[in-house]
Amino acid sequence: MPDRHQQEKEQFRRLFGWRGLDRFEERFQILESFLKLEGHVSLAQIADQVRQDGLRVDNEFLLQCMEQLCRLGFASQVVFDRDETILYEHRQLGVHHDHMICTKCGAIIEFKDDDLEDLQKKMAAKYGFFMLQHKMEIYGLCEQCMAQRGHLIPLSRARIGEKVEIVNVAAGRKMQMRFASMGLRTGIFVEIISSAIGGQIVIASDCNRLILCAGMASKIWVRPEKRPEGISNDGTGGESLPFFNESLPITRMAPGKQGSIARVNGGHFSRRRLGKMGFHQGVIVRVINSSPSSDSIEVMVRGHRFFLSKKDASKIFVENITP
Ligand SMILES: [Zn+2]
Ligand SMILES: [Zn+2]
Ligand SMILES: [Zn+2]
Repeated sequence: MPDRHQQEKEQFRRLFGWRGLDRFEERFQILESFLKLEGHVSLAQIADQVRQDGLRVDNEFLLQCMEQLCRLGFASQVVFDRDETILYEHRQLGVHHDHMICTKCGAIIEFKDDDLEDLQKKMAAKYGFFMLQHKMEIYGLCEQCMAQRGHLIPLSRARIGEKVEIVNVAAGRKMQMRFASMGLRTGIFVEIISSAIGGQIVIASDCNRLILCAGMASKIWVRPEKRPEGISNDGTGGESLPFFNESLPITRMAPGKQGSIARVNGGHFSRRRLGKMGFHQGVIVRVINSSPSSDSIEVMVRGHRFFLSKKDASKIFVENITP
């Protein structure tokens, strides 16, 4: 299959095949295994794939190989604030994207916006700064996590960076008084500074930092800050969904949902192959069946049903998805 991955492998051979790089074949096989994985993967996931492909190497060698692949521009490393795991993704030369990271479920959405790219250059120039590269990471809650959330949540479930309004303090009189002495009463806004699972939560109220234990934080009910226009509070959305209008890969759409194709990622050949099946920008696609346990996903496009591999499906990004 002469697609982008094939090109990458040929380039790797061309770069090293004649140099007598030590353990060349093993390195090459690691590249092959890595190219089979889509998205953002940890070293452990790469190790699993490598093992599945029948190669036995120790983790140190694998790590060294991945670092080399990054240096050579075949892979790039991403580390998000959510947890500090280093993730690797394919690096497609000449193609740039930024990330949105769901701090609840860890979902990663790739996006690119030309206006935003230009704005960053303009901003740098305004400060007399010549921009070479940048990373744009937006942290928040994905559409699914947002939809699962109620109108009111306990403070313990608010996310880092979120500003919330205290609506109700569901505690006994003694505890109520303790909260009141800390300045925590209904109607005030607090910001979540940090939280640790099962542990303490640090909040800012006015210019004060307060530390609450998980038990206390679960007694304070808060209303998350107003969502952007057009989003109803139950998360099902109104007519227009400016906030959620970013595209998602088909693999992240639930069965029954449909939307229009925003773009098809991947190399020239895989895009052409998908194009022949009717997957073009602007075309409506509907997910018929998709289960986490299956390797394929059933979709309907232009009146035809297709079973796409998850790998292919992850290249097709859809926007204006029906709520
Ligand atoms: Zn960018
Ligand atoms: Zn999420
Ligand atoms: Zn990415």
